[in-house]
Amino acid sequence: MGTPILFDNHGRPLNYLRLAVTDRCNLRCYYCMPEEGIKYLPKNELLSFEEIERLIKILAAMGITKVRLTGGEPFVRTDLMRLIKKIIGTEGIKDLHITSNGILMAPYIKELKSLGISSVNLSLDTLDANRFKMITRRDEFAKTWETLQALIENEIPVKINSVVMDGKNSEDILPLVELTRDKNISVRFIEEMPFNGEGSHYPKLNWTYQKILNHIQSAFPSLQKISDPENATAYHYQVPGYRGTIGIIAAFSRTFCGTCNRIRITAQGVLKTCLYDDGVLNIKNLIRSGKSDEEIKQELLFAFSHRAKDGVEAETNRKQHPKVSESMSTIGG
Ligand code: SAM
Ligand code: SF4
Repeated sequence: MGTPILFDNHGRPLNYLRLAVTDRCNLRCYYCMPEEGIKYLPKNELLSFEEIERLIKILAAMGITKVRLTGGEPFVRTDLMRLIKKIIGTEGIKDLHITSNGILMAPYIKELKSLGISSVNLSLDTLDANRFKMITRRDEFAKTWETLQALIENEIPVKINSVVMDGKNSEDILPLVELTRDKNISVRFIEEMPFNGEGSHYPKLNWTYQKILNHIQSAFPSLQKISDPENATAYHYQVPGYRGTIGIIAAFSRTFCGTCNRIRITAQGVLKTCLYDDGVLNIKNLIRSGKSDEEIKQELLFAFSHRAKDGVEAETNRKQHPKVSESMSTIGG
């Protein structure tokens, strides 16, 4: 039997789950979390591995084929590799990806390779150790850099995620582009979104997709637009002759919603059918109230058939927390 295909109410196929396995993190990135005063969820508020495995089985049978583990920092969750093995072994799941800051990842890279991990997105906003410390509020640049090298050596596809912040790391844009000269990696620049646990940093986004592009083009006039993979959120470019590629993600401008194929499950087990909604279904409560797989499936189908058409509509429909200000560490990016 072929893979089932799941559609939302706007005819968009849904095949991609982004799952936050924890809200905890070993960094305090400026754009993601406040420096102090974070209240982590009690452990029993997180989905257990058994609950996650059950949920992924249900979703895979409905048409989800790709899973990304994110957080918080996925590698601070105890025994993460056990969960990874289970997910990779789930019937119907073809690709497992991880988004990580890389600090705790190096010892697991060989095993991840042998398990067939599809790719790693590594957060790295600067190549300068002092700025790394200022942005993440921790002195850990060397470990992330070591993980980047090890991923490349082990031929695991890598994308670097770099959030462009006004007055914090715009001087890193061009050095990060230069990394693609001899490394076969993709460096993606992301518009900063207001998901930082504190509310907006700025009255208005300065480093928009267009401004990032203009800045790169002014230093690399030969920059070429290359084709974007299906369902990509990034616009892709390449400096001719360079091995790697560049992506720019209009995460705040939300220009990619028309082809969005993704759903999210937060660290507390809540379904989001758009990054900008404030949660549309509490799956953890369904599981813990003893619902059957079929009952959970029906609730999921209802949510998928009431999906906002884009991130602007999803933001307008927010009920419990009208203003976007929750930390990305609970959502998973
Ligand atoms: N801890 C892991 C990491 O940093 O890669 C995974 C979780 S993190 C929340 C996932 C992604 O969200 C990271 O690439 C991070 O740069 C991005 N992110 C976090 N807060 C953001 C914000 N306010 N605007 C844009 N991207 C953000
Ligand atoms: Fe942690 Fe990732 Fe958020 Fe940085 S972006 S604080 S590494 S969850």
